[in-house]
Amino acid sequence: MNMLRNNRREFLGTTLTAATAAGIAQGGFFSSSTYGKENKKLGVALVGLGSLSTNQIAPGLLNSAHCKLTAIVTGTPEKEKKWADKYGIQSDHIYNYQSFEKIASDDSVDIVYIVLPNSMHAEFTIRAAKAGKHVLCEKPMANSAADCRAMIDACKAADRKLAIGYRCQFEPHHMKSMQIARSKELGAIKMIEAGFGFTIGDPKQWRLRKELAGGGALMDVGIYALQSCRYLLGEEPKMITAQETKTDAAKFAEVDESITWLMQFPSGVLAYCSTSYNFNGLNRFQAFTDKGFIRMDPAFGYSDVRLETSKGKVELQAQDQFATEMDNFAKCILEDQNSKVSGEEGLKDLLAIEAIYKSIATRTTVAVES
Ligand code: NAD
Repeated sequence: MNMLRNNRREFLGTTLTAATAAGIAQGGFFSSSTYGKENKKLGVALVGLGSLSTNQIAPGLLNSAHCKLTAIVTGTPEKEKKWADKYGIQSDHIYNYQSFEKIASDDSVDIVYIVLPNSMHAEFTIRAAKAGKHVLCEKPMANSAADCRAMIDACKAADRKLAIGYRCQFEPHHMKSMQIARSKELGAIKMIEAGFGFTIGDPKQWRLRKELAGGGALMDVGIYALQSCRYLLGEEPKMITAQETKTDAAKFAEVDESITWLMQFPSGVLAYCSTSYNFNGLNRFQAFTDKGFIRMDPAFGYSDVRLETSKGKVELQAQDQFATEMDNFAKCILEDQNSKVSGEEGLKDLLAIEAIYKSIATRTTVAVES
């Protein structure tokens, strides 16, 4: 497990320091009328205290202007004291998976942030919504489009907000690339190439078990490449053709190792994407336009991303992606707006992912459901 964590950490980059992240705290987007005079932060309960919670989200919450960690939900009792001491969490705000429903009467918790293996996202989103909490759920939203729809319905029924942990959509370089693409200042996009992959470690981890992960590299990191095409274009893919290969059939017996897929968008743009669990170095997108290109390489790590266009390098101040993501969700809750990374966004990715798997299984070009 350590090997995996190290691999992923090296690959995605390290957490930003509080000093680097301080910029976001100053860029407040709350009007005083909506945020209240006492400037109280919204309380967050983290569900699942694994690698992402430990190394990124909890430190990110310390950098958040509008959210703070107030409760934890864990299946590992040994983690309770360590987290309580480190983050000052009171013992009556510590839950396990069985006692989770008690969170309903915990007024310190406004938001439940689900950071569990993918197959558990739907169950805990629905339980959190029923407990009256807003939900931030990690990507991929769920293992199937049907589960995504059930999560959206549960949050609607409980009148709670739902957002998916698509941190790149709040990252300044990604936001700038979207703005350049959508404004057509370099002309219209004609074609996109995108990919994300890494060498996965421990063969026993949940990411290689279909029941827990839903799929392999595509569900875990290919989803970043898929999303970048969607948010650069502002369109949904309509037809997909995909092909898979396994060079290590034993390790990847249950989930995909490497996939390439071709998406056709309504405007006629083609996007060709790749993902893998079996090599490093693929971490980019490039959109070719009438007058040039928009490129991010590396694109999808927690830090040290690089944006370049045919006009030159674009330098922007880095921000803590998790603090920014959580502050945006707080704004949506307090101003009663839908998140731009809503459950419906998560569902659209799962619909495309299901089309990719169907194309591989049927060896045909598949229409994406809507
Ligand atoms: P991890 O393996 O480090 O942690 C998973 C946690 O779930 C652990 O605390 C583990 O104890 C708990 N758990 C509960 N039931 C389990 C079970 N049956 N099997 C295994 N673990 C179980 O994983 P992670 O890297 O923290 O990923 C968690 C989620 O966050 C995943 O959905 C992943 O896709 C997502 N993630 C998102 C990003 C991002 O950049 N947004 C990065 C990494 C992971």
